[in-house]
Amino acid sequence: MKIKRIAIVGGGTAGWLAASHLGAELSADKELEITVIESADVPTIGVGEGTVPYIMNGLKRFGISEAELILSCDVTFKQGIKFVNWLNPNIHGEGNYYYHPFDVPYPAGFDVTPYWVSHAKNLPFDYVGIQSRICELGLSPKKISSEQYSGVLNYAYHFNATKFFKLLSKNAQEKFNVVHKVATIVGADKDDSGNIMNLIADTGEKFAFDFYVDCSGFSSLLLGKELGVPFISKATELFIDTALVQQVPLDGQEELNPYTTATAHKAGWIWDIPLTTRRGTGFVYSSNYMEHEEALSLYANYLGIPPDSFLPRKIPMNVGYRKNFWSNNCVALGLAQGFVEPLEATSILVADFSAELLVRNFPRHSEDIATLTPYYNKVVTHVWDRVIDFIKLHYFISDRNDSPFWLDNQSSEGLSETLRERLEIWKIRPPQKSDFFSRFDLFGADNFLYVLYGMKYKTRELIITPGEINRSRRLIEENESLVEKSASMLLKQKDWLMRLNAAVSRV
Ligand SMILES: Cc1cc2nc3c(=O)[nH]c(=O)nc-3n(C[C@H](O)[C@H](O)[C@H](O)COP(=O)(O)OP(=O)(O)OC[C@H]3O[C@@H](n4cnc5c(N)ncnc54)[C@H](O)[C@@H]3O)c2cc1C
Repeated sequence: MKIKRIAIVGGGTAGWLAASHLGAELSADKELEITVIESADVPTIGVGEGTVPYIMNGLKRFGISEAELILSCDVTFKQGIKFVNWLNPNIHGEGNYYYHPFDVPYPAGFDVTPYWVSHAKNLPFDYVGIQSRICELGLSPKKISSEQYSGVLNYAYHFNATKFFKLLSKNAQEKFNVVHKVATIVGADKDDSGNIMNLIADTGEKFAFDFYVDCSGFSSLLLGKELGVPFISKATELFIDTALVQQVPLDGQEELNPYTTATAHKAGWIWDIPLTTRRGTGFVYSSNYMEHEEALSLYANYLGIPPDSFLPRKIPMNVGYRKNFWSNNCVALGLAQGFVEPLEATSILVADFSAELLVRNFPRHSEDIATLTPYYNKVVTHVWDRVIDFIKLHYFISDRNDSPFWLDNQSSEGLSETLRERLEIWKIRPPQKSDFFSRFDLFGADNFLYVLYGMKYKTRELIITPGEINRSRRLIEENESLVEKSASMLLKQKDWLMRLNAAVSRV
């Protein structure tokens, strides 16, 4: 049977990303109809403001202009993450920091890591490139004349999550004829093989489709509840399970940092994301290691708010993923698929990736499903496992010892076999691109280099030739003048955004 009617249950970021990918790729097939169903009573999660550069691939494909994105979603540029106090403040100083920037570590194309490992450890590792210093100067990654979706340096976005999926929704309905329906789904009828035949709304109405995409958020309404696919907890690897969230208004005078700040505390960390209209902040912690009252008080202190008048929103987080992501005629994406805390902004990335993977493997006929399902599940499981490795790395290699949270995180029991092996190898030599031999490793050698050496991971010193030493030293020194040159050419990001606003209002 040809699959013609696709239902996406959920109208949050994952739902509209799914609709956009499916629409952009499949709308040439005029027999196909894509419907997004969302409840007026179940709110979206309302957070998810940090992204990684991968997001641009989809936005370009969906035909959304970068100027429209920036102006309609309160966007600021994100050139990476500044990790504050992830190393022991008693050893490395209070406020110690390193950057995980988005630009490649070696813009000049020559790998200076062997030199850095053996000769330059006193220099911050991110000085192998220039982006961290561009971030410190508050500069935009783009010139005014840069083409859309490209800049002098690599970047992603911070945005207002609600405005973002509204933009996706408008675009998908206008360009790809996606149908939008408001209904609260309370169940589904299934056939003898477990395929979903129709959705049941709270009004008693039934809606029949051929294929279902579950983007219902943490409730995992179809894949989890209706099809009974179990949830695999990763709480023994990643301890963070609670977030307190507070938006902070801006008075218009502040500089807008072109990066996310992630400040570690004794049982987790705090995110600080600048948007053009407000700061989005969140205090994430492990409830096994910190009481709510202490979290509240530390968070209030960070924001400079009196604790007794402080009422941030509390979000419990179930850390892990579904045993399968595709079962019968249903695929889950976004929070319905899994979630592993907001560090490194992996959630929208995995949702975006999984939606694209679905489109590339979309079953045109119901008979295709049995063949495609195992492949899809294998790839997405790999993606999650490697994402978990990357997040765990930040905790495992920290030398903080100020609480059981950090000490327990340094136990190798919480490591996957792959990460354990890799960390042993990286004691002998630095990570290489070929270590990441699957194209489904969403974080590769560049990302690992920044985090490992930002956190002063110890790799054995390497013997390199005087020629390599001189060349590496010269390249690192040349970065100084490159920073100056770039600084003279790039605007402060606030000025860049004002210039864009002015240019658009003149048109
Ligand atoms: C504290 C926190 C911080 C985060 N920070 C980041 C970040 O910085 N970067 C990042 O990439 N990700 C982040 N995330 C994850 C990010 O928020 C999500 O990946 C993203 O918002 C996608 O959510 P979703 O669409 O899957 O679910 P939701 O936003 O929860 O949407 C669910 C949708 O399903 C609908 N629905 C639910 N039940 C029914 C029903 N019965 N009938 C009909 N419709 C229904 C709802 O109406 C809604 O439209 C964060 C998450 C948390 C918890």
